Amino acid sequence: MRLVLLGAPGSGKGTQAARLKDYLQVPHISTGDMLRAAVAAGTPIGLQAKAVMDAGQLVSDDILLGIIKERLSQGDVANGFILDGYPRNVKQAEALTALLAEIGQPLEAVVKLDVPNEAIIARTEIRFKAEGRKDDNPDVVRDRLKVYAEQTAPVADFYASRGQLQSVDGVGELDAVFNRIIETLDASKPVG
Ligand code: AMP
Repeated sequence: MRLVLLGAPGSGKGTQAARLKDYLQVPHISTGDMLRAAVAAGTPIGLQAKAVMDAGQLVSDDILLGIIKERLSQGDVANGFILDGYPRNVKQAEALTALLAEIGQPLEAVVKLDVPNEAIIARTEIRFKAEGRKDDNPDVVRDRLKVYAEQTAPVADFYASRGQLQSVDGVGELDAVFNRIIETLDASKPVG
């Protein structure tokens, strides 16, 4: 299964992707996790990305395309993947479509988790206290939601206009949301 999970920061897509990975037996590819690992390791990409990430803004499309190209060239994606955090703007969605066409592995599903902003703000506050991620600071979360509305929401429109988008209610218990995603995937047809 080749799947893109869309949703605002704090919508639960990382948590659900981690579960889907076991269920679908495909790798969970989180560009946010990969960038945080690069920051922690002090790689050149990490050094470039840190301030941008701390401010809740998007890291450059070129850096992300390099990361995603490299990751999708690895053997463990032969049976599919779950993309979490990519694509984040329409340019990335177009680049991903072209890349997947090139390797003959089109997406099979695009699922968006819908969670209202008030719930997002509450969830990220809890995560901020638990994990201390700088970008979960309530002020930064407001900026991230703005970036989402301006740059990432159009990605959902991009897939919707191609008849590829499926929306799932992301409010509720983890298990309930997980079951909704599975039901949606079971009902979904392959997409290009
Ligand atoms: P996430 O864990 O997905 O919320 O990502 C954390 C941060 O990493 C984001 O706020 C961005 O600064 C950066 N990031 C992750 N994925 C992307 C992407 N596809 N494009 C640009 N920046 C990204």
